[in-house]
This record gives sequence, C-alpha cells and structure tokens, in this order.
Amino acid sequence: MNEEMELFRENVKRFIEAEVIPNYEQWEHDEIFPRELWNKLGEQGLLAVDIPETYGGFGTDFLFSMVIQEEFSKANCGAVGGPMAVHSDIVAHYILNCGSEEQKSRYLPQMVSGECVGAVAMTEPGAGSDLQGVRTSAKRDGDDYVINGSKTFITNGQHCDMVIVVARTNLEVSGAKGTTLFMVDTNTPGFQRGRNLEKIGLHASDTSELFFEDVRVPASAILGELDKGFAVLMGELQRERLALAIGAVAAAEGVLADTVEYVKERQVFGGPLADLQNTKFKMAEAATDARIHRSFVEECKRLFMDGELDVATVSMAKFSATEMQGRVADICLQLHGGYGYMREYGVSRAFVDARVQRIYGGSSEIMKELISRSVLA
Ligand SMILES: Cc1cc2nc3c(=O)[nH]c(=O)nc-3n(C[C@H](O)[C@H](O)[C@H](O)COP(=O)(O)OP(=O)(O)OC[C@H]3O[C@@H](n4cnc5c(N)ncnc54)[C@H](O)[C@@H]3O)c2cc1C
Repeated sequence: MNEEMELFRENVKRFIEAEVIPNYEQWEHDEIFPRELWNKLGEQGLLAVDIPETYGGFGTDFLFSMVIQEEFSKANCGAVGGPMAVHSDIVAHYILNCGSEEQKSRYLPQMVSGECVGAVAMTEPGAGSDLQGVRTSAKRDGDDYVINGSKTFITNGQHCDMVIVVARTNLEVSGAKGTTLFMVDTNTPGFQRGRNLEKIGLHASDTSELFFEDVRVPASAILGELDKGFAVLMGELQRERLALAIGAVAAAEGVLADTVEYVKERQVFGGPLADLQNTKFKMAEAATDARIHRSFVEECKRLFMDGELDVATVSMAKFSATEMQGRVADICLQLHGGYGYMREYGVSRAFVDARVQRIYGGSSEIMKELISRSVLA
C-alpha cells in the first residue's frame, strides 16, 4: 500500500509541476484558475479518488485523497488544493454517504471526471459560525420546493455546476431541527452567481456570493432527510477538519523547506543569514512546531481510518495545526526580510494563504469551544 501511495504521490507532484506551478502566477493575477483545470484534474484521476468504482471513482482510501491535499499544500498551491478539497472531500462525500442511489449515480461519476464541479453553500451574511441563523428558505409547493435567499463566501462559486444549499424547511422549530440540504444544479432558473469576491489571499481560487430567487427544485433534490440537514453536516465534519489540519502541516513543511534554501543563500554582514543565531533558533522553533503537528496529524489519520477520531481530537488538530501554520509562515516571512513582503516570493503567498485556515471550516474559537466541552465534561 505504501509503495502504491508513493507512486501516486509522485504522480500528483508531476502534475503540479507541469500544469499548476507554471500558470499559478497568472491565475493569481486573474483571481481565478480556469474552468478547464477541473477537467484536467479529472483526466489525471485527481478528483474524488476515494469514491467507489461503482460511481466512477478509484475506490482508494481516504489517505490517497490526503496525499493530494498534502502535495498541493506543500507546493504552496492552496488556492487549487482548497477548492479541490471542497469538491472531493466534502461535496462528493456528502453525496456518497447521504445521497439516494439516483443522486450518487447521477453526480459522482461527473464529479470524478471534472464535468461537474461541486460547492457547498452554508454561510450567509448573517450566519457563519452559527448556522442556526440560516435564513435561506425552501418552501414546499406541490411536489417541489422553492428556494429563496442568499449565500456568501462560497468556494467554487463561479465554477460550480451543482451546489449543496443549506436551507430552512421548518421555521417553527430551531435551525438544528428544521434545516435541509438541497442539491441545486446551477442552470436552474432563479439561481444567480454574485461577484467573485476579492480576498487578501488564496487569490487563484474563486469565492462568491450566490443568490436564489424562487429556485424550484423537486423533492428528489433533497440530500439526506427533510429537516435533518444538520445531521448530514455534522456527520462529515471530522473528515473536513482533519483534511484542513493535514493541509496546514504540509503547508508549514513546504514554506520551511523553501526558507531553509533562502537563509543559506542570502548573505548578510559577510556571511549566510543561516549562520546567525537568531536564524538558527527561529528555524529550530518552526521545525519543532511543524514536526510535533506532523506526529499529531499522523495519529489523527490512523484514528480516522479506524473510525475512532472523536470531535475533541479532530478539533484540537484543526485548531492547533492551522495556528501553527500561521506561526511558521510568519517566522519564514520575517527571515526573508523585505523580499518576504513581495508577491514574487512564495513566502508572501504562504503567509496570506495561511490566514484563512484559522477562520473557515470552523474557526479557532469554535474549535476551542468544542474542545472545552470534552475537557470540562
Ligand atoms: C476563503 C473562504 C472560503 C470559504 N468557503 C466557504 C464555503 O465553501 N462554503 C461555506 O458555506 N462557507 C465558506 N466560507 C465561510 C466560512 O466558513 C465562515 O467565514 C466561517 O464559518 C466564519 O463565519 P463568519 O465569517 O460569519 O464569522 P462569524 O461567525 O461572524 O465570527 C466572527 C468572529 O467571532 C468568533 N465567534 C463566533 N462564534 C463564537 C463563539 N461561540 N465563541 C467564541 N467566538 C466566536 C469567530 O471565531 C470569529 O473570530 C468561506 C470563508 C472564506 C473566508
């Protein structure tokens, strides 16, 4: 298995080197990578790899999908890796684990090939960390549901062909009890994409507002059960948060490796920057931080594979690894001096891309809230 995984890793690296890195700066400039990249990723077998063969996937385990995340993060290409994770590790798994047979056979093969790009729309202007505040509604009308509302900060918002929408179906009860997920094809009348939002980092990824005005979908578009949308969301959180932690560690390792090269080459006061005690100590601190988190996420991977990764442990991993990524990127940028502040140096991208990791997928504060429940139980 390890040999097979390493061969796969080499394949992913080759794709990144040939197809992603040479174009990345242009995509950052365009504030979006091209739609065709999804098809190329599909052709290379890099989308939703752990979907069973029955639905067009390769039937690998979760760890293969994480190899993809690790390599994109390590290569400082998070603005492609992140959207891929939303598509492959979140949306495809919601469908696989909660979808009807018809939904699985219709969407999953197209998601593996890149013909259908997936997005998930939970966040609204008035509901982020607290999803109980969702106001987008889906009202029953005959055999259909009619969706009205708006979403924001949606990854893949410009490219998506299908979006899983979190909507209130019962306003009489709390959000946790009256929320449903709907699979909405983006060619459905009434669906509209808003602008591609300008971000401080992850420039090559698209993040958008989405609008729903009398969007009519059949009851068969419900993913999972009516009014049980929160159960679907909760059921998949471990995988999402673990993927973020794994990406954070790999990103830290990547920026550290680049900085090792830089400090060895950069000359200051008649010698390499690497020879100064401050550089040695800062690099030692950062490498230790990354190494500790590598051990922790490897343990979490094993727990996940054994079905034993609990909420508190994965929350610790997501919280701590993403905070560590920020610390390491900051140290590395400082060691680059003014060059670190220039966009042409990869460390500046690593720094700005790291920042959002502590916010999405459950912010650090929400992670601490979850951890504290187990600590103080
Ligand atoms: C680049 C990017 C991509 C994204 N992609 C998606 C996507 O694909 N789909 C999607 O649905 N959403 C997406 N999001 C939204 C993201 O999940 C939310 O931004 C996040 O959940 C935080 O919600 P919020 O922005 O409304 O902040 P708020 O919830 O308003 O939080 C503001 C601050 O208050 C803190 N806070 C909130 N509640 C508590 C509490 N109980 N205790 C202590 N502190 C608290 C938060 O930690 C934060 O520091 C994305 C966001 C970004 C920036």
